[in-house]
Amino acid sequence: MSDKPEKFIDENGLRLDGRRVDEIRPMKMEIGVLSRADGSCYLEWGKNKVLAAVYGPRELHPRRLQKADSALIRYRYNMAAFSVEDRIRPGPSRRSIEISKVSREAFEPVVLTHLYPGAVIDVFAEVLQADAGTRTAAINAACMALADAGIPMKGLVSACAVGKVDGQLVLDLNKPEDNYGDADIPMAMTSDGEITLVQMDGDVTPEEFKQAIEMCKEGCRQIMELQKETLKNKFTKLEDVEISDD
Ligand code: ADP
Repeated sequence: MSDKPEKFIDENGLRLDGRRVDEIRPMKMEIGVLSRADGSCYLEWGKNKVLAAVYGPRELHPRRLQKADSALIRYRYNMAAFSVEDRIRPGPSRRSIEISKVSREAFEPVVLTHLYPGAVIDVFAEVLQADAGTRTAAINAACMALADAGIPMKGLVSACAVGKVDGQLVLDLNKPEDNYGDADIPMAMTSDGEITLVQMDGDVTPEEFKQAIEMCKEGCRQIMELQKETLKNKFTKLEDVEISDD
């Protein structure tokens, strides 16, 4: 692991990777990348690479696990053994179990589960390459895979983290900021700004926390634009095919 940098932000207000404090890393995404999943998305965000797959809604077995009035969402976040510099031991860890739980909860208020009593919706988020912010990258990809699967949702969910370095809030932490910064606050929110996930590692003042939410809203707004654009591109193309077939 590299050493702690002396300064995270230079005299021109630029971070170690050249971004301004309120800038997110470049992101690109593609949906429908897996033919055997009902919905899927491959997403790159900075050096993070994540693949999300959704299966369902389908009948949940064993039946004793079924919920009478809604579908169950299962979410599995996993980091591939080769996703980090030192190989990760395969299988669930305390960290991946926690991330899976909070990520599932980030979608529960949004997915219209009451339409599918007794069913299960499985979401798999596989981190292929990790470089800080993988839980938020996975949530952005999972949201797209859910939409690609045609799962009805109240709206899209976007996620981004805000942190603190050199006494300043920064949007979308890079690896050194994540490792050595003073705070890391990942959040997920809907297009209405309803927060469905917030975690905090480190210390910020109540005023900074309010500012962090506003910064994160702006980051999520940009991500949501890309999510909407990606969906529009796919479904407009499908419409074109249908029209030309007539
Ligand atoms: P997030 O990826 O959501 O930011 P963390 O803050 O826990 O979650 O992790 C920050 C980064 O540290 C990860 O993105 C990854 O690059 C790295 N990392 C996490 N867990 C491990 C691990 N077990 N081994 C090596 N690197 C890890």
